[in-house]
Amino acid sequence: MNSWDSWLESERTRREQGALERRLRTTEQPAEPIALRDGRRLVNLSSNNYLGLAGHPALIEAAARGAVRGAGAGSSRLVVGGDSATAALEQKIAAFKGSEAALVVGSGYLANVGAIAALCDRDTAIFLDRLDHASIVDGARLSGARINRYRHRDLDHLEQLLERSGAARKLIVTDTIFSMDGDTAPLGELVELKDRFGALLVADDAHGGGVFGPHGEGYAHELGLADRIELQVGTFSKAFGVYGAYISAGRSLIDQLVSTCRTLIYSTALPPAVIAAIDASLELVAAADEARRELRVKSERFRTRLTELGFDSGASTTQIIPALVGSSGRALALAQELEERGVLAVAIRPPTVPAGQARIRFSLMATHTDEDLELALEALAGVA
Ligand SMILES: *Cc1c(COP(=O)(O)O)cnc(C)c1O
Repeated sequence: MNSWDSWLESERTRREQGALERRLRTTEQPAEPIALRDGRRLVNLSSNNYLGLAGHPALIEAAARGAVRGAGAGSSRLVVGGDSATAALEQKIAAFKGSEAALVVGSGYLANVGAIAALCDRDTAIFLDRLDHASIVDGARLSGARINRYRHRDLDHLEQLLERSGAARKLIVTDTIFSMDGDTAPLGELVELKDRFGALLVADDAHGGGVFGPHGEGYAHELGLADRIELQVGTFSKAFGVYGAYISAGRSLIDQLVSTCRTLIYSTALPPAVIAAIDASLELVAAADEARRELRVKSERFRTRLTELGFDSGASTTQIIPALVGSSGRALALAQELEERGVLAVAIRPPTVPAGQARIRFSLMATHTDEDLELALEALAGVA
């Protein structure tokens, strides 16, 4: 066996012993409330299609109309330039977010990696919540800046770290809604702290966009803090039901990114079909008050029932609701049992969550019917 074979073998053994092996499963209609796996109907509590827009006829039609302009964009926007639909979309996003400017990028992952690495260097100190998304951590690492990680939502800890830092520039990055816990960032206090220390605040609204705010603008709008946060990142792949992402900020920050954000410069622009579908989804999201209300009511009810069954849903207050179980083996076994009872809910294990904090992560959709959710709760009662 050569050194690669033996390394791969030992890696596999390590994963299997820790119940950390991951498998790609084939699932039909993966964004719908009922997904199909091995010919069976499963109540889908794992999709981020919170408002049920991924299958909306208006988005599918918009994508089809966009595709007439070509299947692919053909180059990075910094090479040939994006078409007028992309420029118009960016103006629409800026108006929606109430920011001076906006930039469309390939995905939320690319937005975080590109923006953080473009704004930070060795003279910068970055401050991350311990539970920030992997793409934020990766951007921070790539930047070469000094990384400080504060305990989850612990403002005293963050303040100490800010006080101790002598860096010329300081950047705080937080998820707005934490993706594996469903709790929220203390944005008001973060805004006060960053003002006091002259830091820049970046908020990743991947799970807040479409769901929070008077018209789905996001979690910062929900709290009336949008104009106090220098830069927001959000994805169009979750509540918006499409793909791609945005960065919204003041003109000078966006100008800096256009010239230096490597995931924008060195990656091909989104295809016309995706641009057209995002454009249509902004309108659907703005008009989705009823779906937002449904999602809130269903999430609240599901969380209450889950805790009544004896599960620990942590600090969740949103449409993301974990059932904390501890070991990866237990989480996997629970997910398997739920699947046998007709429920699709994935086990989330390290390194996605800290060691010893494996869980089942439920995410609700406005389009789940009461019967779907009753079936899921009966299954949960059966395994409790
Ligand atoms: C999903 C997610 C991303 C990545 O967005 P994609 O568009 O799927 O790449 C970034 N940040 C957070 C907090 C997320 O949950």
